Amino acid sequence: MKKRLKITGIFILIIIGFILFRTFTFKSKQIQVPLSPKISLNDTCVSHLQKAIKFKTVSYDGVNMMDSSQFMGFQNFLMETYPLVFSKMEVEKVNNFSLILHWKGQSAKAKPIILMAHQDVVPIEKATEKDWEVSPFSGAIKNGFIYGRGTIDDKGSLIALLESAELLLKEGFVPSTDIYFVFGHDEEISGLKGAKTIAKIFKEKKINPAFILDEGGIITEYKVPGLNKTAAVVGIAEKGYQTLKLKIKIPGGHSSMPEEKTAIDEMAKAVVKLKENPFPAELTPVVQNFLSYVGPEMPFVSKMAMANHWLFSPIIKSSYSKSGAGNATIRTTMATTIFNSGIKENIIPGEAEVTVNFRTQPGVLQQDVINHVKNAIENDKIEIIPVGEGNSPKQVADVNDASFKYIQTTISKIKRNIIVAPYLVLGATDSHHFDQITSQIFRFSPFTDPEGFHGVNERIKVSEFKNGINFYYLLMKDYK
Ligand SMILES: [Zn+2]
Repeated sequence: MKKRLKITGIFILIIIGFILFRTFTFKSKQIQVPLSPKISLNDTCVSHLQKAIKFKTVSYDGVNMMDSSQFMGFQNFLMETYPLVFSKMEVEKVNNFSLILHWKGQSAKAKPIILMAHQDVVPIEKATEKDWEVSPFSGAIKNGFIYGRGTIDDKGSLIALLESAELLLKEGFVPSTDIYFVFGHDEEISGLKGAKTIAKIFKEKKINPAFILDEGGIITEYKVPGLNKTAAVVGIAEKGYQTLKLKIKIPGGHSSMPEEKTAIDEMAKAVVKLKENPFPAELTPVVQNFLSYVGPEMPFVSKMAMANHWLFSPIIKSSYSKSGAGNATIRTTMATTIFNSGIKENIIPGEAEVTVNFRTQPGVLQQDVINHVKNAIENDKIEIIPVGEGNSPKQVADVNDASFKYIQTTISKIKRNIIVAPYLVLGATDSHHFDQITSQIFRFSPFTDPEGFHGVNERIKVSEFKNGINFYYLLMKDYK
């Protein structure tokens, strides 16, 4: 007995030792560089963003609803505002409204870089219009913020890119490699005419960039759980998108004589079963990468958990499951978005239909989603019909590549003591269309805690907007 206790004691000590060893050797992956001197910017750049917001370059789901005069007006505004950019760079229009700007560098041999932003914005939901503190397309400034649809998504980046390029051209700067700007016009409706077409052109021309930078991650002062420091999250992968329609037909009839099974009842059961059978939570390689960058910067107990996820992964998973964003990070999510059945109060309908939207982990295919649903609902009478092809991005950028280190270094030059971490982007971006020409696609906008993305009072802090210009300026200037 005593001997057994002794062995157990030794075993526990070894485990504790191992946990502590892993914690103490869990080294920071941050890059220490001095802050770069801030470039001097007056408020002209701010008025440029304000003017950009005034163009209602809205993407609607319905075909042919686009107001092309707004896009034309926006592009004329860009040409007038950035004369050096539009005279010194080669300009190509794709499907009338998407733009490629090609800035020739000193060496044609070195791999180019591609910097992306999109011109279109999402509409203003009618019901929420009154909740805006200023008119959504006014670009008005209030309490140090520029307000308006597109300030964050994504005209803030687009204007900041052009401001920094115009400034560099004014200084006579020539980049070390070619730089391409890609400004799609239909990102909010999947980018099929813009980014997807441009990606095809690049592939044909055999343009293989060292990296691509598009929107996605941000700088945040409070959104990374357990980390009490400012963090910049840089997307190294993004989630996929699938939609399925579930349909059941059971003869209906008069509601005075209901049969045991009805279409609505069966479909309701299926929806509940889906809810009860979520996709499994997983600490995927992308999430593990994230933890390995933020973990060493956390207080001791959290750091210990992050350093030992072989042991603490159930705790990490359960804490991530508690928030919408955390849950979406660790699993493929599903949401029932449309439920249709019935036309009259005393008729049992013969058909019921629901639409379920899935956001998949990298590498999860449409067939995987269908199989999951089939197993969860256990009802052969329900037909499962894919809506469109969806997309299943599987690519994950390599954080050990020089390109990630370069972006990390540039971020560290604009904010003191910032923690940079790779992460999974939960939405879709234009950049996934480019997975055939490079594996190094990063998603990051250099702005801190933007507000109102796709919602009301979308806004960016004036100082943060200027900081973003500074980021792109350094990114282009220091690239070798
Ligand atoms: Zn966007």
